[in-house]
Amino acid sequence: MPKEVLIRYDRCLGCRSCQLACAVAHSSAGSLFGAVLGGEKPRTRIFVHQVGGHKAPLNCRHCQDAPCVDACIAGAMHRQEDGTVTNVGGDQQCTACWMCVMVCPYGVIRSDAEGTMALKCDRECREETGIPACVRACPTGALVYDEVDDYSGRRRLDVLHRALSNV
Ligand code: SF4
Ligand code: SF4
Repeated sequence: MPKEVLIRYDRCLGCRSCQLACAVAHSSAGSLFGAVLGGEKPRTRIFVHQVGGHKAPLNCRHCQDAPCVDACIAGAMHRQEDGTVTNVGGDQQCTACWMCVMVCPYGVIRSDAEGTMALKCDRECREETGIPACVRACPTGALVYDEVDDYSGRRRLDVLHRALSNV
């Protein structure tokens, strides 16, 4: 089963370290100083918003039956063997028609800085650790890269531990 970036909303501080790490990891320079000195405008593909009193990151869910793949008339949006949905590295080029932007239920596809192609989470930031840059950067463990069943198993144990610790 592929790993997913899962979110512990209760742990998010709203520090935006994930956004910065994502943008830097996708820059040509690969470092914050290099990107700034090179005049790059790296763009994040994970988005932290404040809703009421809560801070919440939102990222691509790499959906099964992904609407963005179905909507991509150019054929650029596709699923890779590891489950990642991306518009980069396939047989066809993104034509910036924005169909994927219009159908994504989470609003996590955006334009590049020049308006020439759609940008989304492509997990190309995993480097040798195999862990996405946003997850590595999060100081509170609000972002978890794990298989869904392993994650939910740990959440059940957390709940039971809390419920029974005072019995
Ligand atoms: S971009 Fe949106 S529709 Fe496409 S896989 Fe990600 S969450 Fe699903
Ligand atoms: S790095 Fe973690 S704590 Fe900071 S905004 Fe992102 S998810 Fe929230």
